[in-house]
Amino acid sequence: MSSQSYFKSVMYALVTGGTRGIGRAITEALLKEGYNVAVLYHGSEDKAKELREKGVLTVRCDVGDRNQVKKAKEEISNHFPRLDVLVNNAGIWYLMPFEQFDEEKYERMLRVNLNGTIYVTYEFLSLLKKSSAASIINIASNAGIGTAAEGTTFYAITKAGIIILTRRLAFELGKYGIRVNAVAPGWIETDMTLGNKSDEEKEKLREIFRNKTVLHTTGKPEDIANIVVFLASEKARYITGQVIVADGGRIDNLTHSV
Ligand code: NDP
Repeated sequence: MSSQSYFKSVMYALVTGGTRGIGRAITEALLKEGYNVAVLYHGSEDKAKELREKGVLTVRCDVGDRNQVKKAKEEISNHFPRLDVLVNNAGIWYLMPFEQFDEEKYERMLRVNLNGTIYVTYEFLSLLKKSSAASIINIASNAGIGTAAEGTTFYAITKAGIIILTRRLAFELGKYGIRVNAVAPGWIETDMTLGNKSDEEKEKLREIFRNKTVLHTTGKPEDIANIVVFLASEKARYITGQVIVADGGRIDNLTHSV
């Protein structure tokens, strides 16, 4: 069994989908904590440029394409001697009630959200093993634990997959001192939830989702980034295999009624 020994000076983190939304907030928070950060992104060249100007190593990579992930690993290995933190955050979402099943969209979600998490974790594992106290943090969703927002069934399946993957990986990787946890956010204000909406539509959506929480509030990307920073740190050294739900206390969680 390996024993953990926490980072002293130089720390290395990789965030997938670090260009926008929750991933961007995580990237900024890790930079603030002094990490060297690498980001995998898909299409946001302008955002990647902004990050490069802040010293972030950016690699364009579709996480749902295993060959691209392998190449990204080679590229990052040229700059980072190891990885202390891996945040699997990249994800996509399509509104799709069960009766409007669209196989192509479902497979795309599965490929990016779930397979992407598997590919990135698998390919970067050798770098994580070089850390004295590595930590993997997967961004799941409250949908994956049974929250019942309309049209999220297929997306929820991909996120439930990430949750069981988190638990099983915690079991399998504990022997290397690698901790594996997940964060399950509720409704967070990002492009995913508010992109391409008018101000009026945005306010309507905020109100709908405020009304679904006991705290009567919506979430910000920083709410999730703060949890990631904690989970990555020594303060969380005794935590593995857990899912931290940050959703304002959703009242439409199906597990409440069973
Ligand atoms: P955004 O749509 O705002 O940002 C998505 C990020 O993922 C972007 O950086 C994007 O890169 C990247 N990305 C998308 N597809 C790929 C791909 N194939 N390969 C690499 N990178 C990719 O989403 P959020 O910030 O809202 O969501 C982040 C994570 O949090 C997702 O996993 C999402 O499912 C989860 N989540 C979000 C919630 C919310 O309410 N917002 C609630 C629960 C979970 P680029 O900018 O280059 O396109």
